Amino acid sequence: MAKHKTHFEDCDVLVVGGGMAGTGATFEARHWGRDLKIICVEKANIDRSGAVAQGLYAINCYMGMQWDENQPEDHVRYARNDLMGMVREDLGYDMARHVDSTVHMFDEWGLPMMKNEKTGRYLREGKWQIMIHGESYKPIVAEAAKKSADKIYNRIMITHLLMDEAKENRVGGAVGFNMRTGDFHVFRAKTVIVAAGGASHIFKPRAVGEGMGRTWYAPWSNGSAYALPIAAGAKMTQMENRIVLCRFKDGYGPVGAYFLHLKTYTQNANGENYEKKWYDQTKELVGEYIDHHPTPTCLRNHAFIQETMAGGGPIQMVTTEAFQDPHLETVGWENFLGMTVGQAVVWASQNIDPKYTNPELTTSEPYVMGSHATCSGAWVSGPEDLSPPEYFWGYNRMLTIDGLFGAGDTVGGSAHKFSSGSFTEGRLAAKAAVKYIEDQKAEGINVTDKQCEDFKFQVYKPLDTYTVAQNEITGGTVSPSYISPIQGLQRLQRIMDEYVGGIATNYMTNENMLKRGLELLAWLEEDLEKVGAEDYHQLMRAWELKHRALTSQCVTEHTLFREETRWPGYYYRGDHMKLDDDNWHCLTVSRRDPKTGKFEMEKVPVYHIVDENEKKKAS
Ligand SMILES: Cc1cc2nc3c(=O)[nH]c(=O)nc-3n(C[C@H](O)[C@H](O)[C@H](O)COP(=O)(O)OP(=O)(O)OC[C@H]3O[C@@H](n4cnc5c(N)ncnc54)[C@H](O)[C@@H]3O)c2cc1C
Repeated sequence: MAKHKTHFEDCDVLVVGGGMAGTGATFEARHWGRDLKIICVEKANIDRSGAVAQGLYAINCYMGMQWDENQPEDHVRYARNDLMGMVREDLGYDMARHVDSTVHMFDEWGLPMMKNEKTGRYLREGKWQIMIHGESYKPIVAEAAKKSADKIYNRIMITHLLMDEAKENRVGGAVGFNMRTGDFHVFRAKTVIVAAGGASHIFKPRAVGEGMGRTWYAPWSNGSAYALPIAAGAKMTQMENRIVLCRFKDGYGPVGAYFLHLKTYTQNANGENYEKKWYDQTKELVGEYIDHHPTPTCLRNHAFIQETMAGGGPIQMVTTEAFQDPHLETVGWENFLGMTVGQAVVWASQNIDPKYTNPELTTSEPYVMGSHATCSGAWVSGPEDLSPPEYFWGYNRMLTIDGLFGAGDTVGGSAHKFSSGSFTEGRLAAKAAVKYIEDQKAEGINVTDKQCEDFKFQVYKPLDTYTVAQNEITGGTVSPSYISPIQGLQRLQRIMDEYVGGIATNYMTNENMLKRGLELLAWLEEDLEKVGAEDYHQLMRAWELKHRALTSQCVTEHTLFREETRWPGYYYRGDHMKLDDDNWHCLTVSRRDPKTGKFEMEKVPVYHIVDENEKKKAS
């Protein structure tokens, strides 16, 4: 223990994770808090970290209010429809009304935006998406954060939040370790903004063995955004709402530009429009939701999954028509080169030229995130001017722990934020965090050395476990006294896959399976006390695994609680196959008691603010 040096840093605003939301938070914190000390801590390097590391080809959330293309109300209706009614409309509206200003800053900062030659407006890919040459998207937003922060710490993984010992339920900072030096870092902070992305690799991926790591969602997103607040006792929402993506097979290349800009379409192996075939069956399950336009993402998945189970696969994207147009062919390839080079490589390796062969699609393993066509995450306060009392407790985007804020994938209930909306939400959270400090809410925080030392002991325990247990290794990595992070990860993935609705069961689960899953997760948690790490990189893997395991428990508890199938195509409760608006038109909220480890669940009303307000105005 003594060999790991401890560094102390005191600051006003601590941003955990320097992805899209974290860079937005760091930038905006400086705008409102000129004299404040602002620190951003990132597990990788903010120049190329998070889901946008490799670049993007489209900004998926832009209203275009200056040209009256869309208004925030329209976006709320869109997100509500896509999530089968279940969104926090206050959060969605708040993000939407500010997102255009974020995009305009990206433009000023030099992000190459494609323009419509006739109108001079940003080139639309779809109703909400605008096209960019975005290979350098992440370095551009990182520069803004670097210029705003007092200090950016790269290569430090935050493992725990510190709690104030003077006042109950108030945050006091965070701790973590540097994966290169092994040093321990204590950040005592007046406010903490968690912006640590979503969670991949909690469900077993389709690609295992030689292909492990090839997932749609960034493999390094390990659920810290959820585990950090859950461990501290913050409330979470909609954690059952995991997302399954329909993407190009094996490379997980995006389909948005193909559907929207290239106007490609899907078919089954016999060249049929299979979605129509499943209309009546889907209507039986979800009623009129299947008639909504656009068809909710999960319901399109549902048709795909049913068709594949009925033997209609492989499902293909019809590219051979669009690719005859040289311009569209270029766009199709550039789309991958700007954000998913791997898909082009996979096609080359499989001898697929989309001009002549219609490539195969697949449905992914489930992921947990809060910014895409899904809204898992922390239960946060909304903005003062929009939120009903149940959704408001003082500061925008503050979790149920005082001084702890969230943004991007961290925040639940607000889907379809994407890159621009996550950056925007980071800005909103930072503005509120500065106000919290100015309002003197962070006075007198006391974080004792003992609290820090206790965490330090826990953080390095996997190294100590390995040091002792390695003497008992019988062959390769087999030891009676410890498990390695990869062994623990594979065990976690199988539990989630087989019991909580992964690909092994075609996304099917039920009460009995979930209860068994929870039992197995509890035993895994016990065994993770014996996880061993041979170096600092493996220590990171050990902590990633622990965060994934805690996130998984929360996902499973939520899935058990919601006794209906709200999102067929994301997962199915076999014992409650139908959507049940009478009993479950509500948000689910959980809290794990940090002392006992037990989760408590509750239902919270979902308020349809946008159209309610309009109805009131009309009457
Ligand atoms: C495959 C894919 C394709 C997408 N395509 C598009 C698109 O075309 N257009 C679009 O607009 N949006 C797109 N998105 C959505 C967009 O990328 C996300 O909405 C956005 O990145 C979320 O921002 P975030 O800050 O919450 O997470 P991220 O940007 O992922 O940032 C999280 C950061 O936290 C860091 N971190 C994690 N754990 C820790 C820890 N314990 N300690 C310290 N740091 C930590 C990570 O390293 C990372 O830098 C896509 C997302 C994915 C996954």
